[in-house]
Amino acid sequence: MAQVEGVELWYGAIVPWDGIGDRTDASHLSAPQTLLLRPGTPSSPLYWTPMLTGPLVFELPAFLLGLLLGSFLNVCISRLPQHQSILKPRSHCPSCRHTIAWYDNIPILSWILLRGRCRSCRQRIAWRYPLVEFSFALWLTFAARTAFPLLQPGLPSGAFGITLLDAAGLAILGFLLIGLLVMDWQTHTLPDAFTLSGSLIGLLLICVRAAYLLPHQYDLLLHGPNPLTSVGGAQDQGNIVLTGPEHLILGRLYAMALWAAILLFIRFAYKTLRQQEGLGMGDIKLAAMITAFLGFWLGAFAIFFGVILCAAYAGTLIARHRATAATRLPLGSFLCIGGLIAAILGAPVIAWYVSLF
Ligand SMILES: [Zn+2]
Repeated sequence: MAQVEGVELWYGAIVPWDGIGDRTDASHLSAPQTLLLRPGTPSSPLYWTPMLTGPLVFELPAFLLGLLLGSFLNVCISRLPQHQSILKPRSHCPSCRHTIAWYDNIPILSWILLRGRCRSCRQRIAWRYPLVEFSFALWLTFAARTAFPLLQPGLPSGAFGITLLDAAGLAILGFLLIGLLVMDWQTHTLPDAFTLSGSLIGLLLICVRAAYLLPHQYDLLLHGPNPLTSVGGAQDQGNIVLTGPEHLILGRLYAMALWAAILLFIRFAYKTLRQQEGLGMGDIKLAAMITAFLGFWLGAFAIFFGVILCAAYAGTLIARHRATAATRLPLGSFLCIGGLIAAILGAPVIAWYVSLF
């Protein structure tokens, strides 16, 4: 992947060690290869086949954990738009209020065994439940795959922390976006419990990330015809405007504020011209949250992609006479799709685009 100066492509574009320089470079280190480096005997369970050990060590546990967390995500999706507690009471059927036993609450499996109906009242259980569980399980599997370099022997400690941090950020972002996607689609709400808390988590991750910067890495320098250097500063490249950590954290805050300001302006303009609400505050907080995790350019990618998808959806509805210009659209859901795609594909696409110039 191209290294582009001054453009933060992904968390990985600024990692402070050589070799596994960024996410794309790291992807060639698949788990089977690294596990082959283990001195194992053919009788040990880890020495089955390289094709099997990788998925057993990484993907399968991630998938199972994803199913469980996806089940919790379903609780959030059902209760947060209603301002209910996500901790109590225990899960119950929305139609007969019957408390669901643990054996009827196993992700996906219970839904299939019960054939999508409640055990006590036989009312249909929405297919949203198994779908959310499966989607997040897939997402967590994908996030775990990005952590494959953790299995590399002799990994520098900084690289270990950064890889873990990136994978955790990806997993958390997916949890929030899949949840918000469904909530906005079904209830036209984007709860602050996800958007604002998510923004804080994204910022917190960036602060931890800043602690992994090497001295002078990512410094913002002032270059002039005669750069001033400090006394004895033979290695100085010029005046430091912001140190690396300041540059990283303030840059991310600035990116969030900039996107929020642009969207607030669009909201204000739309309200003034059309005399109706076009862009909700929830959408703006969601855009800021995506930017907190992914940075300015991937935030831009997510927003543009989401708006284009939403416009295409609106066009289809209008063409089939199922909507008018006044129909309320779940823009937030499309922003979530944009964010999920930006998290997976955004960095390679932006690197390719920048490499054209
Ligand atoms: Zn029921």
